[in-house]
Amino acid sequence: MKYSNPQWDDTIVALATPPGVGAIGVIRLSGPSAFGIVNQLFPSKDLEQQATHTAHVGLLKEKGEALDEVVVTLFKGPRSYTGEDVVEISGHGSPYVLQRILDACMRGGARLARPGEFTQRAFLHGKLDLAQAEAVADLIAANTAATQRNALHNIRGGFSAELKQLREQLISFSALIELELDFSQEDVEFADRSQLYALVTGAHERVSKLAASFQLGNVMKNGVSVAIIGKPNAGKSTLLNTLLNENRAIVSEIAGTTRDTIEEVLNIDGILFRFIDTAGIREHTADQIEQIGVEKSREKMQQADIVIYLFDVNTMAPVDLEQVQREFDAAGYKYLLVGNQIDKGEETALRTKFDRSAGQGVDSSRLLLISAKQGLHVELLKERLVDLVLGGQVSGDTTIVTNARHYHALQEILRSLMDIRNGLDNHLPGDLLALDIRRCLQYVGEITGEVSNEDLLDYIFSKFCIGK
Ligand code: GDP
Repeated sequence: MKYSNPQWDDTIVALATPPGVGAIGVIRLSGPSAFGIVNQLFPSKDLEQQATHTAHVGLLKEKGEALDEVVVTLFKGPRSYTGEDVVEISGHGSPYVLQRILDACMRGGARLARPGEFTQRAFLHGKLDLAQAEAVADLIAANTAATQRNALHNIRGGFSAELKQLREQLISFSALIELELDFSQEDVEFADRSQLYALVTGAHERVSKLAASFQLGNVMKNGVSVAIIGKPNAGKSTLLNTLLNENRAIVSEIAGTTRDTIEEVLNIDGILFRFIDTAGIREHTADQIEQIGVEKSREKMQQADIVIYLFDVNTMAPVDLEQVQREFDAAGYKYLLVGNQIDKGEETALRTKFDRSAGQGVDSSRLLLISAKQGLHVELLKERLVDLVLGGQVSGDTTIVTNARHYHALQEILRSLMDIRNGLDNHLPGDLLALDIRRCLQYVGEITGEVSNEDLLDYIFSKFCIGK
């Protein structure tokens, strides 16, 4: 995209590090006067004569008064984050000193940057596409290894590459179909319909996978809620404590979750598990859970993504456990049946007690025997939890959609691919097919930013922090 908007001809400045006291604070400038503005404050050297990607130590002075001793790093456009001339001033991390440097830059002609404006400029100069720019915000917000890995994959263009391929194929077909229209009198077909059909089918499959990954993406961003339920004394608080001792997650705030119930958050293999209503677990009211412990927990289970039904292996009757399993299956829960306190008995004997071969039995893929108190097989429980969430969708290099805007655009892409396919089935004329292909391309472009409008861009970048 070209640097055409006159609004982008000015130079912006912002504090790039968090507010507050720190070892250092970084102030960043971007725009045509970035070098000139800092040069006026940096008497010891002519910065405009220095090579790009170099760092310079010196005193920063305004009207003869020293402000700070700083390191100035120079990036000449277009080899910079924004694609413009960029200067980073690393000063001492006093909010007072940094504010004075910021003021001096503004008196020198810079304007305070809006949130995300550096990244927005990078986008407008074609340094990043929109999906990559949004991944920058995701990386800044990353709070687990999984969200970090995914954001980094997308900053490096993972998601964009998948869409680019689709876009290029659709463009070449649409070009052929439009060529056909020019020869419409002669009844020729340049675009091979069966090839187009195969392309659309393949694309539909890939885009469906991307759209389906949103569920996992959402889980990575917002965490998975887990309810531990079971009779009193099954060992629920003991299990929670054992898990918390090793994996308590440090989380500030998880977007989109309400905190009207008390919950503990664990980070297991990069996925945040939110154990809901943990106050309820710890309260131990005797009448809390009757019978097989399901009745009163129903509401809690309905709120949860995953239910752990914890029971004492030594006292639980297999028929009762089968009953729990039937109820959970009927309700459509994702669940694990976890038998606790195996240290009190003989493991193999306890295992055969619930074995499927003994009768109808309990589904062994759901069943797990542990000792919460001794930490026995608790690792296995964690693995099973992660498996339940990932369900075989391993991340790594696969693209996972975490952004609702992308998800909605993918849904529209799927719809238009279906329309193209129906059009082919019904031998629709080329001009109508071309319309559907263009609509599909429009939605692909909305994700990567080839098609965008200013309001959308302003909205997206306003979610960033200032200085990014
Ligand atoms: P809750 O009512 O389900 O929360 O159960 P608690 O966690 O309070 O446990 C009830 C009792 O069982 C406590 O005395 C625990 O120490 C004990 N307990 C829990 N887990 C185990 C276990 O794995 N082995 C043994 N031997 N005792 C356990």
